[in-house]
Amino acid sequence: MHFTLLKKTLNSDQWFFVWTADLEDYQMTLCIICKGENPVSKENPITDEHIVPEFIGGSLIVKNVCKVCNSRMGEGFEGKLSNYDFYKFLRIRHNIIGKQTNLPFLLAGSYEDDDIGKFQVLPNSDLFVTPSFIIHADENRVDISMSIDRSELSKAEDYLEKKLCRHFKAQGKNVSKSNLSKRVRELIKHARIEEQTKEKLQIARAIDLDFYDYQVMLYTKIVYELAIFHFGEGYINDPIANKLRLVLKNQQLDASLHGEFPLRKQSLDEFFDNEHHWVMFFNHLCFIKLFGFPAVIEFSERGSMFSQEEKIVYKFCYKTLSFMKLPYLEQMRR
Ligand SMILES: [Zn+2]
Repeated sequence: MHFTLLKKTLNSDQWFFVWTADLEDYQMTLCIICKGENPVSKENPITDEHIVPEFIGGSLIVKNVCKVCNSRMGEGFEGKLSNYDFYKFLRIRHNIIGKQTNLPFLLAGSYEDDDIGKFQVLPNSDLFVTPSFIIHADENRVDISMSIDRSELSKAEDYLEKKLCRHFKAQGKNVSKSNLSKRVRELIKHARIEEQTKEKLQIARAIDLDFYDYQVMLYTKIVYELAIFHFGEGYINDPIANKLRLVLKNQQLDASLHGEFPLRKQSLDEFFDNEHHWVMFFNHLCFIKLFGFPAVIEFSERGSMFSQEEKIVYKFCYKTLSFMKLPYLEQMRR
Protein backbone atom coordinates (compact mmCIF):
# COMPACT_ATOMS: atom_id res chain seq x y z
CA MET A 1 0.00 0.00 0.00
CA HIS A 2 1.12 3.49 -0.67
CA PHE A 3 0.29 6.68 1.18
CA THR A 4 1.30 10.19 0.44
CA LEU A 5 1.71 12.28 3.51
CA LEU A 6 0.01 15.59 2.98
CA LYS A 7 0.31 17.30 6.28
CA LYS A 8 1.39 16.45 9.76
CA THR A 9 -0.10 18.71 12.38
CA LEU A 10 1.42 19.71 15.69
CA ASN A 11 0.07 16.65 17.35
CA SER A 12 2.05 13.66 16.20
CA ASP A 13 -0.94 11.32 16.52
CA GLN A 14 -2.78 13.16 13.85
CA TRP A 15 -2.06 12.53 10.21
CA PHE A 16 -3.66 13.54 7.00
CA PHE A 17 -3.41 11.12 4.17
CA VAL A 18 -4.38 10.95 0.59
CA TRP A 19 -4.54 7.72 -1.23
CA THR A 20 -2.46 8.17 -4.33
CA ALA A 21 -3.21 7.00 -7.84
CA ASP A 22 0.20 5.36 -7.93
CA LEU A 23 -0.77 1.88 -6.94
CA GLU A 24 1.96 -0.17 -8.57
CA ASP A 25 2.93 -1.73 -5.28
CA TYR A 26 -0.68 -2.58 -4.49
CA GLN A 27 -1.87 -4.50 -7.49
CA MET A 28 -4.20 -7.12 -6.17
CA THR A 29 -4.82 -9.93 -8.60
CA LEU A 30 -7.70 -11.34 -6.61
CA CYS A 31 -10.99 -9.51 -6.33
CA ILE A 32 -12.02 -8.99 -2.69
CA ILE A 33 -15.69 -9.53 -3.55
CA CYS A 34 -15.74 -12.71 -5.68
CA LYS A 35 -12.28 -14.01 -4.67
CA GLY A 36 -11.53 -15.11 -8.22
CA GLU A 37 -14.93 -16.55 -9.09
CA ASN A 38 -14.87 -14.11 -12.01
CA PRO A 39 -11.29 -14.65 -13.23
CA VAL A 40 -9.27 -11.49 -13.73
CA SER A 41 -8.54 -10.96 -17.42
CA LYS A 42 -8.16 -8.22 -19.99
CA GLU A 43 -11.96 -8.07 -20.20
CA ASN A 44 -12.37 -8.28 -16.43
CA PRO A 45 -9.56 -6.20 -14.96
CA ILE A 46 -9.16 -5.15 -11.34
CA THR A 47 -10.72 -1.69 -11.25
CA ASP A 48 -10.73 1.41 -9.08
CA GLU A 49 -13.02 1.02 -6.12
CA HIS A 50 -14.36 3.82 -3.94
CA ILE A 51 -14.54 2.47 -0.37
CA VAL A 52 -17.07 5.21 0.45
CA PRO A 53 -19.14 5.48 -2.77
CA GLU A 54 -18.92 8.66 -4.82
CA PHE A 55 -22.63 9.44 -4.49
CA ILE A 56 -22.15 10.04 -0.77
CA GLY A 57 -18.95 12.00 -1.31
CA GLY A 58 -16.28 9.29 -1.05
CA SER A 59 -12.81 9.84 -2.42
CA LEU A 60 -10.70 7.01 -1.01
CA ILE A 61 -9.93 4.78 -3.97
CA VAL A 62 -8.34 1.34 -3.84
CA LYS A 63 -7.76 -1.13 -6.64
CA ASN A 64 -9.04 -4.50 -5.51
CA VAL A 65 -12.45 -5.19 -7.05
CA CYS A 66 -12.88 -6.79 -10.48
CA LYS A 67 -14.91 -5.06 -13.16
CA VAL A 68 -17.77 -7.58 -12.98
CA CYS A 69 -18.20 -7.17 -9.21
CA ASN A 70 -17.75 -3.41 -9.44
CA SER A 71 -20.55 -3.03 -11.95
CA ARG A 72 -22.78 -5.48 -10.09
CA MET A 73 -22.56 -3.37 -6.95
CA GLY A 74 -22.84 -0.17 -9.01
CA GLU A 75 -26.02 -1.36 -10.68
CA GLY A 76 -27.18 -3.09 -7.50
CA PHE A 77 -27.51 -1.58 -4.06
CA GLU A 78 -25.23 1.41 -4.72
CA GLY A 79 -27.01 2.54 -7.87
CA LYS A 80 -30.44 1.86 -6.37
CA LEU A 81 -29.67 3.83 -3.21
CA SER A 82 -28.30 6.77 -5.21
CA ASN A 83 -31.67 6.97 -6.96
CA TYR A 84 -33.71 7.17 -3.79
CA ASP A 85 -35.00 10.66 -2.97
CA PHE A 86 -33.64 10.29 0.53
CA TYR A 87 -30.05 10.11 -0.72
CA LYS A 88 -30.70 12.69 -3.44
CA PHE A 89 -31.87 15.04 -0.73
CA LEU A 90 -28.71 14.41 1.30
CA ARG A 91 -26.58 15.07 -1.77
CA ILE A 92 -28.35 18.38 -2.37
CA ARG A 93 -28.12 19.30 1.30
CA HIS A 94 -24.36 18.64 1.36
CA ASN A 95 -23.59 19.72 -2.18
CA ILE A 96 -22.20 16.35 -3.27
CA ILE A 97 -21.87 16.24 -7.05
CA GLY A 98 -20.36 12.73 -7.24
CA LYS A 99 -20.00 11.16 -10.68
CA GLN A 100 -22.63 13.45 -12.25
CA THR A 101 -22.04 16.95 -13.56
CA ASN A 102 -24.89 18.46 -11.55
CA LEU A 103 -26.66 17.98 -8.30
CA PRO A 104 -29.87 15.98 -8.65
CA PHE A 105 -33.21 17.82 -8.87
CA LEU A 106 -35.50 16.26 -6.33
CA LEU A 107 -38.75 16.77 -8.26
CA ALA A 108 -37.48 15.32 -11.55
CA GLY A 109 -39.74 12.55 -12.82
CA SER A 110 -42.98 11.77 -14.65
CA TYR A 111 -46.35 13.17 -13.59
CA GLU A 112 -49.90 13.49 -14.82
CA ASP A 113 -52.20 16.50 -14.78
CA ASP A 114 -55.97 16.64 -15.48
CA ASP A 115 -55.57 19.37 -18.11
CA ILE A 116 -52.28 18.76 -19.82
CA GLY A 117 -52.00 15.01 -19.38
CA LYS A 118 -48.66 13.34 -18.87
CA PHE A 119 -45.63 15.54 -18.39
CA GLN A 120 -42.10 15.33 -17.16
CA VAL A 121 -40.03 17.48 -14.87
CA LEU A 122 -36.51 17.32 -16.26
CA PRO A 123 -33.35 17.20 -14.13
CA ASN A 124 -32.68 20.86 -15.05
CA SER A 125 -36.16 21.71 -13.62
CA ASP A 126 -37.71 22.37 -17.07
CA LEU A 127 -41.19 21.04 -17.76
CA PHE A 128 -41.91 18.91 -20.78
CA VAL A 129 -45.31 17.70 -21.96
CA THR A 130 -45.26 14.12 -23.18
CA PRO A 131 -46.85 13.79 -26.65
CA SER A 132 -50.36 12.34 -26.51
CA PHE A 133 -53.01 11.50 -29.11
CA ILE A 134 -56.72 10.89 -29.30
CA ILE A 135 -57.90 9.21 -32.48
CA HIS A 136 -61.57 8.73 -33.43
CA ALA A 137 -62.12 6.90 -36.66
CA ASP A 138 -65.22 5.64 -38.45
CA GLU A 139 -66.02 4.67 -42.06
CA ASN A 140 -65.96 8.19 -43.38
CA ARG A 141 -63.58 10.24 -41.32
CA VAL A 142 -60.74 10.28 -38.88
CA ASP A 143 -60.55 12.84 -36.09
CA ILE A 144 -57.21 13.31 -34.50
CA SER A 145 -56.18 15.49 -31.66
CA MET A 146 -52.57 15.64 -30.63
CA SER A 147 -50.99 17.54 -27.82
CA ILE A 148 -47.27 18.15 -27.69
CA ASP A 149 -44.84 20.40 -25.92
CA ARG A 150 -44.40 23.85 -27.47
CA SER A 151 -40.68 23.15 -27.90
CA GLU A 152 -41.54 20.24 -30.17
CA LEU A 153 -43.78 21.91 -32.73
CA SER A 154 -41.29 21.13 -35.49
CA LYS A 155 -41.54 17.44 -34.66
CA ALA A 156 -45.33 17.35 -34.94
CA GLU A 157 -45.32 15.68 -38.37
CA ASP A 158 -42.92 13.06 -37.25
CA TYR A 159 -44.89 12.17 -34.13
CA LEU A 160 -48.18 12.00 -35.97
CA GLU A 161 -46.82 9.86 -38.78
CA LYS A 162 -45.39 7.34 -36.34
CA LYS A 163 -48.58 7.29 -34.32
CA LEU A 164 -50.81 6.74 -37.36
CA CYS A 165 -48.48 4.10 -38.71
CA ARG A 166 -48.90 2.14 -35.48
CA HIS A 167 -52.63 2.86 -35.42
CA PHE A 168 -53.24 1.44 -38.91
CA LYS A 169 -50.94 -1.48 -38.34
CA ALA A 170 -52.87 -2.41 -35.20
CA GLN A 171 -56.05 -2.41 -37.30
CA GLY A 172 -54.46 -4.64 -39.89
CA LYS A 173 -54.51 -1.93 -42.55
CA ASN A 174 -51.66 -1.49 -44.95
CA VAL A 175 -50.85 2.09 -45.74
CA SER A 176 -48.00 3.12 -47.99
CA LYS A 177 -45.43 5.26 -46.24
CA SER A 178 -45.31 7.99 -48.87
CA ASN A 179 -49.09 8.19 -48.91
CA LEU A 180 -49.18 8.50 -45.15
CA SER A 181 -46.48 11.19 -45.11
CA LYS A 182 -48.45 13.19 -47.65
CA ARG A 183 -51.65 12.91 -45.66
CA VAL A 184 -49.94 13.83 -42.42
CA ARG A 185 -48.46 16.96 -44.00
CA GLU A 186 -51.95 17.93 -45.20
CA LEU A 187 -53.44 17.26 -41.79
CA ILE A 188 -50.89 19.39 -39.99
CA LYS A 189 -51.28 22.17 -42.54
CA HIS A 190 -55.01 22.40 -41.95
CA ALA A 191 -55.00 21.62 -38.27
CA ARG A 192 -56.35 23.99 -35.72
CA ILE A 193 -53.65 24.81 -33.21
CA GLU A 194 -54.64 25.72 -29.74
CA GLU A 195 -52.07 26.91 -27.29
CA GLN A 196 -52.67 25.98 -23.74
CA THR A 197 -50.93 27.47 -20.77
CA LYS A 198 -51.22 26.25 -17.26
CA GLU A 199 -50.78 28.87 -14.61
CA LYS A 200 -50.36 26.77 -11.56
CA LEU A 201 -49.13 23.24 -11.81
CA GLN A 202 -49.28 21.07 -8.77
CA ILE A 203 -46.90 18.23 -8.27
CA ALA A 204 -47.49 15.54 -5.71
CA ARG A 205 -44.64 13.25 -4.97
CA ALA A 206 -44.54 10.26 -2.67
CA ILE A 207 -41.14 9.51 -1.21
CA ASP A 208 -40.22 5.87 -0.94
CA LEU A 209 -38.29 5.09 2.22
CA ASP A 210 -38.23 1.34 1.87
CA PHE A 211 -34.53 0.79 1.29
CA TYR A 212 -33.42 -0.75 4.56
CA ASP A 213 -31.67 -3.77 2.99
CA TYR A 214 -29.72 -1.67 0.48
CA GLN A 215 -28.69 0.67 3.24
CA VAL A 216 -27.35 -2.16 5.38
CA MET A 217 -25.41 -3.35 2.31
CA LEU A 218 -23.91 0.10 1.85
CA TYR A 219 -22.74 0.20 5.48
CA THR A 220 -21.46 -3.40 5.16
CA LYS A 221 -19.46 -2.52 2.05
CA ILE A 222 -17.71 0.40 3.73
CA VAL A 223 -16.90 -1.67 6.84
CA TYR A 224 -15.59 -4.64 4.83
CA GLU A 225 -13.52 -2.64 2.36
CA LEU A 226 -12.15 -0.27 4.97
CA ALA A 227 -11.20 -3.23 7.20
CA ILE A 228 -9.14 -4.63 4.29
CA PHE A 229 -7.58 -1.21 3.81
CA HIS A 230 -6.85 -0.99 7.55
CA PHE A 231 -5.77 -4.57 8.40
CA GLY A 232 -4.40 -5.65 5.03
CA GLU A 233 -5.48 -8.33 2.57
CA GLY A 234 -5.12 -11.09 5.18
CA TYR A 235 -8.40 -9.89 6.65
CA ILE A 236 -10.44 -11.39 3.79
CA ASN A 237 -9.74 -14.85 5.26
CA ASP A 238 -11.45 -13.98 8.57
CA PRO A 239 -14.73 -15.97 8.92
CA ILE A 240 -16.81 -12.85 9.62
CA ALA A 241 -15.08 -11.00 6.78
CA ASN A 242 -16.19 -13.84 4.52
CA LYS A 243 -19.81 -13.40 5.61
CA LEU A 244 -19.61 -9.66 4.94
CA ARG A 245 -18.09 -10.40 1.54
CA LEU A 246 -20.94 -12.77 0.64
CA VAL A 247 -23.52 -10.12 1.61
CA LEU A 248 -21.91 -7.86 -1.01
CA LYS A 249 -21.36 -10.55 -3.63
CA ASN A 250 -24.90 -11.95 -3.43
CA GLN A 251 -26.48 -8.64 -2.38
CA GLN A 252 -28.43 -10.44 0.26
CA LEU A 253 -28.36 -9.84 4.01
CA ASP A 254 -27.11 -12.52 6.38
CA ALA A 255 -29.20 -12.81 9.56
CA SER A 256 -26.37 -14.56 11.40
CA LEU A 257 -24.23 -11.41 11.32
CA HIS A 258 -24.32 -9.31 14.48
CA GLY A 259 -24.85 -5.59 14.50
CA GLU A 260 -27.40 -2.91 15.07
CA PHE A 261 -28.89 -0.89 12.28
CA PRO A 262 -29.74 1.82 12.92
CA LEU A 263 -28.03 2.27 16.26
CA ARG A 264 -30.52 3.54 18.83
CA LYS A 265 -28.28 4.34 21.76
CA GLN A 266 -26.10 7.12 20.52
CA SER A 267 -23.68 7.69 23.38
CA LEU A 268 -20.90 8.30 20.87
CA ASP A 269 -22.67 11.16 19.18
CA GLU A 270 -20.88 13.94 20.99
CA PHE A 271 -17.56 12.90 19.46
CA PHE A 272 -18.78 12.34 15.93
CA ASP A 273 -20.50 15.25 14.20
CA ASN A 274 -23.10 14.95 11.45
CA GLU A 275 -21.00 16.78 8.88
CA HIS A 276 -18.62 13.90 8.17
CA HIS A 277 -18.80 10.17 7.63
CA TRP A 278 -17.24 8.23 10.50
CA VAL A 279 -15.94 4.70 10.88
CA MET A 280 -14.41 3.42 14.10
CA PHE A 281 -12.94 -0.02 14.69
CA PHE A 282 -13.02 -1.13 18.31
CA ASN A 283 -12.43 -4.73 19.39
CA HIS A 284 -14.42 -6.90 16.97
CA LEU A 285 -17.02 -4.22 16.22
CA CYS A 286 -17.19 -1.36 13.82
CA PHE A 287 -19.13 1.83 14.51
CA ILE A 288 -20.17 3.58 11.34
CA LYS A 289 -22.05 6.83 10.90
CA LEU A 290 -23.03 8.21 7.51
CA PHE A 291 -24.73 11.63 7.29
CA GLY A 292 -25.46 11.40 11.01
CA PHE A 293 -27.09 7.94 10.88
CA PRO A 294 -25.12 5.53 13.07
CA ALA A 295 -24.89 1.73 13.03
CA VAL A 296 -22.69 -0.98 14.50
CA ILE A 297 -21.51 -3.96 12.47
CA GLU A 298 -19.46 -6.88 13.72
CA PHE A 299 -16.45 -7.16 11.44
CA SER A 300 -14.47 -9.99 13.09
CA GLU A 301 -14.80 -12.65 15.76
CA ARG A 302 -14.32 -11.58 19.39
CA GLY A 303 -10.63 -11.87 20.26
CA SER A 304 -9.53 -12.64 16.71
CA MET A 305 -6.21 -11.40 15.38
CA PHE A 306 -8.08 -8.51 13.75
CA SER A 307 -9.61 -7.32 17.00
CA GLN A 308 -8.72 -3.66 17.36
CA GLU A 309 -7.81 -2.99 20.98
CA GLU A 310 -7.06 0.67 20.52
CA LYS A 311 -10.04 2.38 18.96
CA ILE A 312 -9.14 3.73 15.56
CA VAL A 313 -11.24 6.37 13.87
CA TYR A 314 -11.55 7.17 10.18
CA LYS A 315 -13.07 10.54 9.41
CA PHE A 316 -14.25 11.21 5.85
CA CYS A 317 -14.88 14.76 4.79
CA TYR A 318 -17.29 14.99 1.88
CA LYS A 319 -16.69 18.71 1.46
CA THR A 320 -12.94 18.54 0.92
CA LEU A 321 -13.06 14.95 -0.42
CA SER A 322 -10.35 13.88 1.98
CA PHE A 323 -10.03 11.53 4.90
CA MET A 324 -8.12 11.27 8.09
CA LYS A 325 -7.18 8.44 10.40
CA LEU A 326 -6.73 9.10 14.08
CA PRO A 327 -6.87 7.36 17.48
CA TYR A 328 -10.14 7.68 19.39
CA LEU A 329 -8.54 9.52 22.32
CA GLU A 330 -7.41 12.22 19.95
CA GLN A 331 -10.97 12.51 18.61
CA MET A 332 -12.36 12.82 22.17
CA ARG A 333 -10.08 15.71 22.99
CA ARG A 334 -11.39 17.82 20.11
ZN1 LIG B 1 -14.93 -9.96 -8.51
